[in-house]
Amino acid sequence: MLRGFGERAAPQAPPSAVKSVLIIEDNPLNMKLFSAMLAAEGYLVLEAADAHSGVALAHARHPNLIIMDISLPGMSGIEAAQSLKADLDTSDIPIVVTTAYQKQYDEKIQASGCDAFMAKPISVTHFLDTVEMLAARPAPQPQMA
Ligand code: MN
Repeated sequence: MLRGFGERAAPQAPPSAVKSVLIIEDNPLNMKLFSAMLAAEGYLVLEAADAHSGVALAHARHPNLIIMDISLPGMSGIEAAQSLKADLDTSDIPIVVTTAYQKQYDEKIQASGCDAFMAKPISVTHFLDTVEMLAARPAPQPQMA
């Protein structure tokens, strides 16, 4: 059907309604997998291959959720999570930690202040359920300095 001048397309959801997820992951295949699953669910995906750029991106974009790998080049995901949770600007962003080496990191994960843990290889259903639950919180707002 042709649209007349007075007609408009259905209003788009405001940008704030789109939930964003920051993936901090150095394994290209995991990044591709997580990113594709989240994009397919309608999330805006932000990607960082190391902790330093991930932390910077978290401050710049205030995503609704962060998926954090532990084994990363340079700063570990545990250190990055602690740094984000200790900073008022980013402390309210939920963080899901992922690793294939849970036993090795168990105590550190507990102490890091992260909101959830997911073992690799991840279950797709569990992954998406966890993301949906945690990203449903109100979007974190930047704190005024
Ligand atoms: Mn890794």
